[in-house]
Amino acid sequence: MIVVMEQGATESQVGHVAKAIRELGLREHIIVGTERTVIAALGDDRAKNKENLETLPGVEKVMPVLAPYKMASKEVKKERSVISLGGKLGASSGGKKVSVIAGPCSVESRSQMLDVALGVKEAGATALRGGAFKPRTSPYAFQGLGEEGLEIMAEVREQTGLAIVTEVMSIEQVPLVVKYADVLQIGARNMQNYNLLWAVGETRKPVLLKRGLSATLEEFLLAAEYVMSKGNDQVVLCERGIRTFETYCRNTLPLAIVPEVHRISHLPIMVDPSHGTGHAHLVPDMCKAAIACGADGLIIEVHNDPEHAWTDGAQSITAKALKELMGQLRGIAAAVGREM
Ligand code: PEP
Ligand code: MN
Repeated sequence: MIVVMEQGATESQVGHVAKAIRELGLREHIIVGTERTVIAALGDDRAKNKENLETLPGVEKVMPVLAPYKMASKEVKKERSVISLGGKLGASSGGKKVSVIAGPCSVESRSQMLDVALGVKEAGATALRGGAFKPRTSPYAFQGLGEEGLEIMAEVREQTGLAIVTEVMSIEQVPLVVKYADVLQIGARNMQNYNLLWAVGETRKPVLLKRGLSATLEEFLLAAEYVMSKGNDQVVLCERGIRTFETYCRNTLPLAIVPEVHRISHLPIMVDPSHGTGHAHLVPDMCKAAIACGADGLIIEVHNDPEHAWTDGAQSITAKALKELMGQLRGIAAAVGREM
């Protein structure tokens, strides 16, 4: 970090700050300028309580230099991480191949899941999504089939080879979901549930971490750091839109996060255009845009009867529409040096 002293700060104030830096286990390097003095603190200060330095007499501000996350950052690992998502169809995220995770918002029944799974597999998806535990805004809304939903997902994996991606909402559910799923999804609402992040960090399953509705990129990467700090480095980030003042879409999908994540982190980032827009008619174009800007994958809500979907029908496309879309996406992927 850099400590910027006020103009006219005295020598004894500078000395006091230097001593405080040493007390933090860091080394000071004092740079005396014509206008003001700045003090660089040398060493890894991530775990230090450096904000307090700003209260010392003569200090104007304290500026961090290192990113607060470490394992998620490019400082630690230069090359992009490639995370295998399981299943038998080579689903992965972060490599040359752009994988598509597709399926309904919620698991509703065996026939619904098998039907949609066969459709998305034919379209070219390699992983199947479906919520058995649903984070609903209203406590009166359908909350998911629970373990029965997980059983259905696992059966469909046996029948199709698709990897299974499903949400885990609480620490108590982790062992159950781990038993059935290939990828543990952490929903947007739980991105800052730090105990849950630690709990999935203790597992050795890939984690699809969705961005919180109002989380900054730094908070998003710190959430990934929680998982990684427990030894699970298989984290795939997922941009699913953030809440803004805008009303034409359910959320605002900020795609600039994709190249920015690639600049500062080695973790793959997927895009969810379904929750990112809330409207099926916006999904295909946002898929194209996501691939064009370098997304490492897509997670798309697909339902074969969106009109009667139990959850999120308005943002669900059909498997037939996905198949058509995949053809177009392959062309875009090739143009940006990727494969689908
Ligand atoms: C979902 O994937 O169905 C879901 C609830 O997503 P999010 O957590 O992004 O709202
Ligand atoms: Mn949904």
